[in-house]
Amino acid sequence: MDVDLIIVGGGLAGNCLALSLHKTCLKIAIIEAQSRQTLDGAALGDRALALAAGTVDALRSLDLWEGISYAATPIENIHVSDQGHFGKTHLSAKKENVPALGYVIAARDLENHIANHVAKLQNTNVFYSTRVAGIISDENAVFVSLKSEQESINLRAKLVVGADGGNSSVRQLLNITQHRTDYGQSAIVTTVSTSRPHQNVAYERFTSSGPLALLPLGTHHCAVVWTRKSDDAQALMQGSEADFIAQLQQCFGYRLGELNLSAPRHAFPLSLIRADDIIANRAVIIGNAAHQLHPVAGQGFNLGLRDVMALATMIASQSDNDIGAPDFLASYAEKRQSDQSRTIQFTDALVHVFSNEWLALAAVRNLGLTLLDTLPFAKSILAKHAMGLHL
Ligand SMILES: Cc1cc2nc3c(=O)[nH]c(=O)nc-3n(C[C@H](O)[C@H](O)[C@H](O)COP(=O)(O)OP(=O)(O)OC[C@H]3O[C@@H](n4cnc5c(N)ncnc54)[C@H](O)[C@@H]3O)c2cc1C
Repeated sequence: MDVDLIIVGGGLAGNCLALSLHKTCLKIAIIEAQSRQTLDGAALGDRALALAAGTVDALRSLDLWEGISYAATPIENIHVSDQGHFGKTHLSAKKENVPALGYVIAARDLENHIANHVAKLQNTNVFYSTRVAGIISDENAVFVSLKSEQESINLRAKLVVGADGGNSSVRQLLNITQHRTDYGQSAIVTTVSTSRPHQNVAYERFTSSGPLALLPLGTHHCAVVWTRKSDDAQALMQGSEADFIAQLQQCFGYRLGELNLSAPRHAFPLSLIRADDIIANRAVIIGNAAHQLHPVAGQGFNLGLRDVMALATMIASQSDNDIGAPDFLASYAEKRQSDQSRTIQFTDALVHVFSNEWLALAAVRNLGLTLLDTLPFAKSILAKHAMGLHL
């Protein structure tokens, strides 16, 4: 079968890419390994996503925001603190002159909403429960072989995009090497109800065993992303709910009154994966396939969507020209280089600086947080980073 573009991975990045190209007349195939039912029931769908203001602007431009904004909670203030130390800082939408610093949404709601929009696209065919078995290319085309339970299919296109997540098969089939750093930490994800209203404040609390985020969701709920050393996380997951909530309360304190569990707990091991290249012959990798980040700064999807928007803009302006040509792909890679590096370094530095109990480092970061609180310009830069705006 001949198409123009093959997107491997029907997650947030892959689906958003197809949607962002709907005004072109490109014929697109999306290959998704799971069925829609399996994706809908996946534990990972229970994570909350903090969407930067820049991401919301992009979703709006794709006509995706209006139909889902009701499920998103605006973040009006961000409170950053360090457990057991004096340093803290506070970012405010009002001071930045914006309606919100970002929004929080259940990932499953956003994923389903986007997948429903993709299902209506005229020029896009989605192959669910189908995996990529092989990729070869020549000067003119890329050939992708697919396997599902029922059949084997061969596709030919101008370009293949790997948007198939942190363990990307496309990356492996293209022989692109990667750097992987195992943080020795897991993120425990759940939702709690709070006896006091959160007043649209997102809390980021750095503790000796890793950061804890409570993100406002609805009026009396918060999404929890609690990063713990892997052994601690395992113990917390195996312990009772009562024990879990007692430890969470002890770590967070009583700013929001009493916390109660209102969703199951899930733990996800954390590592930084960075592909050594993001292009190959007639191929590009985007989103988590190119860079899987620690969730501490909530930057993963925000960065992935910037890959999508950049690639879509370039493809759309390529019109009659070859969208898999080497110079075209090289200019995409060059365009994305600095944003990807900066976001990866910012996130990785946060993990290392704030997971460390070494006294001098604790003093420096507390001084940093305190100084930041008194320096409007520096705070504004941090707020812009949180909003996903370029610095
Ligand atoms: C606990 C946690 C909290 C997070 N919080 C935030 C946050 O607040 N803000 C934020 O911006 N980001 C956050 N992230 C990151 C965000 O979830 C990811 O960056 C984003 O989901 C990546 O989207 P993606 O489409 O690139 O990859 P994925 O979501 O991994 O999608 C890849 C898709 O490819 C499919 N696939 C895999 N292999 C194949 C194959 N061989 N063939 C075909 N299909 C395949 C998969 O089934 C999947 O559907 C968080 C992540 C975690 C784990």
